[in-house]
Amino acid sequence: MASEYEEYEYNGLKVVFYKKNDEYHSSVLWGQTLMKYSNNSKIKDLKAEITNFVKNKKEIENKIYSNHQKFLERSGVKDSKSMNIYRLKNTRKNRVTHCYACGHNLSTYQNYACDRCSWLLCSCGACGCAYNPNFK
Ligand SMILES: [Zn+2]
Ligand SMILES: [Zn+2]
Repeated sequence: MASEYEEYEYNGLKVVFYKKNDEYHSSVLWGQTLMKYSNNSKIKDLKAEITNFVKNKKEIENKIYSNHQKFLERSGVKDSKSMNIYRLKNTRKNRVTHCYACGHNLSTYQNYACDRCSWLLCSCGACGCAYNPNFK
């Protein structure tokens, strides 16, 4: 491998590989949110692991679910444990708006929504349940 830093785009996720201290590291980012981090001395093994992760919808869904839960807890939303996420059917066009909580561009690409407010979820876990125009 000639380059010690590589960056890819996969289904709206940013995948980065880099070498540091004789080991290879990889981060998978969705917007500002770290979805997965791993390291390995063999780049081949690391790439296989990361490829499995980005192709595994269930794992990504679990991560989005836990980000949403953390966000609800932080925001003091009641009964957050009973709340779930669901995948929207792809009937609407890809809309892009800004997330009120983290300011990241919100794309409907991943299409997960909160089952209480039906807002699209941001990678940071934000939904409409804690929306407040002065949020910061
Ligand atoms: Zn956000
Ligand atoms: Zn919500």
